Order: sequence, then C-alpha cells, then structure tokens
Amino acid sequence: MTHIELRGVQKFFGDVQVIKDMNLVIEDNEFIVMLGPSGCGKTTTLRAIAGLETIDEGDILIDGKAVQHLKAADRDIAFVFQSFSLYPHMTVYENIAFPLRATRQSKAEVDRAVRQMAEILQITPLLQRRPSALSGGDMQRVAIGRALVRSPKALLMDEPIGALDATLREEMRTEIKRLHIKQGSTTIYVTHDQVEAMALADRIVIMNEGVLQQVGTPDEVYTHPANLFVAQFVGSPVMNVAEARITEEKDEARVFMPGAEHGFPFPRKLIALLEAGKASPDAISLGVRPEGVLVEREKREGYLPVEAHIIEPLGSHDIVDLQIGDRFLRARTKSGFVPRPGEQVWARIDPAQAHFFDTRSGNSLG
Ligand code: ATP
Repeated sequence: MTHIELRGVQKFFGDVQVIKDMNLVIEDNEFIVMLGPSGCGKTTTLRAIAGLETIDEGDILIDGKAVQHLKAADRDIAFVFQSFSLYPHMTVYENIAFPLRATRQSKAEVDRAVRQMAEILQITPLLQRRPSALSGGDMQRVAIGRALVRSPKALLMDEPIGALDATLREEMRTEIKRLHIKQGSTTIYVTHDQVEAMALADRIVIMNEGVLQQVGTPDEVYTHPANLFVAQFVGSPVMNVAEARITEEKDEARVFMPGAEHGFPFPRKLIALLEAGKASPDAISLGVRPEGVLVEREKREGYLPVEAHIIEPLGSHDIVDLQIGDRFLRARTKSGFVPRPGEQVWARIDPAQAHFFDTRSGNSLG
C-alpha cells in the first residue's frame, strides 16, 4: 500500500522556478501519468519524488511520512528512464537479479523472483542473453523487470518507451498496462505524448510551465478541460478555438466566428453564463472538438454555409477543414460522406459539445 502526496512543492534552478506550488495526492495502486510539453517540469517533479533532486519548499510524503530529506536509496522507489540503463556485461538474468543482491534473500528466493518477473514480462527465453543481443523493446522490459523485482513502494517511469518506434511503443504500452493490472503498484509515468497518457492513466496530471493545470481521469480532462491550455493539449486533432463575438436576442445567443456573416445559435448554456455574470460577451473563446462540428451536404436549420478545404481520409472517419469567415474549423465527418475540396457544405456546432473559456484568464466557463 503506497500513498504519495506533494504539498506546496517548489523547485528553483538558479532564478528559474520549475515547480510552482504543486499539490497532488496519489492513491495506492494508482497509475498516474504526468503530461505536459517539453520543459514544463515533469521530470524534475518525478526526480524530486524519487529523491534524485532536492526541493526548495514544501513536503513530499510517502505513506504519510515526509521524505524530502531522505536519500533516494532510503525511499524504496524504483525508477525507469528512457535510456535503457542495463549493465552490459551482465546477462538479462543477472540484470534483473542485481537489485536483490543487497537484500538477504537466499539464492533460491532470488531465482524464484527473477523467473516470476521474467514470466510476467514474457522474457524467459532471453534470460541468458546480454543486453547487446536484445531489441529496444526487450531492453526496456528488462529495465522494468529490474525496477519491479524488489517490489518497491512505487514505480516511477520517465518516458520509458519514448525511444522506441511507433509499433513497438503501442505494444509496450499495452504491456505496461497489463503489468500494472497484475502487479498493482503505485505508478507515476511521465510523457509528453497525450495518446499514451490517455491510454495508460487512471488519472492524468497536466502541467505547463511548472504549474499543475488539471488532474483528472482521461475522460474528465478530455470532456471537461479546466482551461484553454488543457483543451488544446489533450485530443487529436486539437480542439478548434476561436475568440467569438456573441450577440443576445430574446432567449437565444448567437456566436459569430471572426469574419463570418452568420452566427451559430446557442440556445441556453451561454445565456445562463452571461446572465450569471460569469462571462463578459467581449472576452469569450469558443472551443469545439472536431467531432462537435456537424457537417451536412444539404441545408438545415441552424447550419451555416461553409467551404470544405483539406480532407484527410483516416479510414473510420475523415477530417475536413472548413472555412467559416476568415477561420478554419476542423470537423470529423462520418465515413461515407466525404466532401470534395472546394465544395460548399453546411455546418453547425453541436451546443452540447461546445466549450466556453474566458479569453483573458483562459479558464473554462463551465
Ligand atoms: P522534457 O520532457 O523535455 O524532459 P520536462 O517537462 O520533463 O521536459 P524538466 O526536465 O523537469 O521538464 O525541466 C524543467 C525546466 O528545468 C526546463 O526548463 C529545464 O531546462 C530546466 N532544468 C532541468 N534540469 C535542470 C538543471 N539540472 N539545471 C538547470 N535547469 C534545469
């Protein structure tokens, strides 16, 4: 049972603050993915939890005990890096067994633990090989095996599959998930790949410029992004966002895209926000994911005429860039209906799938 907590953690490198007042609770057995662009502070946070980096303010608690003054070796946390840090002169068996040397386990107990780990990771036939005779994926399996063999309190992984090719990455992703389900150890996994984060995480921690932006399940961060940064960092293709002009008439609001002659009708959600004073009509950004842009060949009530531009057929669906006013709106259309480039079609934004953000703060308006 391992529970990790960060309370008011701050970290500076010289004058630069790379972790800004971070508070986070990680539950026992949780698979947490820290996601964010390069340089946002993910690795530093992970290294601070492992004890490979000091912190300047705050507490790091493992099972309720402050550990920020403990050395890495005394925190009982395993770390897997992107580069495969295996001992080249040792066999796979010896590499996995290595962390057990310091424990007082008998040879038979070590043998059992190594073979069990190899079985779980499906590398039993490789036990007598040396790292130079392994593929990248197998090397990383061995590195994970070596990290987990002594049943650490937690497993921290920093872009462990980032160096592998796309097919192998997908395969390893599934294996890491399977391993977690089987072993159930508290895991913190760092990546800048949002697809990997969505696939692996129980909860995703999204960071930008040292600041925690949102913590939530993959579904929560996708469907209820806390701000414009999260909205545009999570999801592929990215969410369409435009600063919108809004008019109110009777009990209806209309949202005009820049340069567009006609506006999309938004019956209630937006009016309620404006009436509650939660939003000012001159500083609202509209966000909609490509699946929230509805496209039809024939004219329909509430749909605006748009021109199809670039089409990307993706098999199960197509991505179409539509021109509205002086903006492009990316839509995901059902397979079967593929407009031709230059064709005039009809589009509207599904009000249920629209997000509104305060343009100034970037925060979601709910
Ligand atoms: P990446 O995905 O590129 O590894 P990251 O989100 O993990 O990025 P960090 O490696 O934590 O980010 O780095 C955060 C910031 O701290 C970056 O601006 C980086 O240049 C800086 N930094 C990291 N380590 C040090 C160091 N030892 N000394 C000075 N600055 C550092």
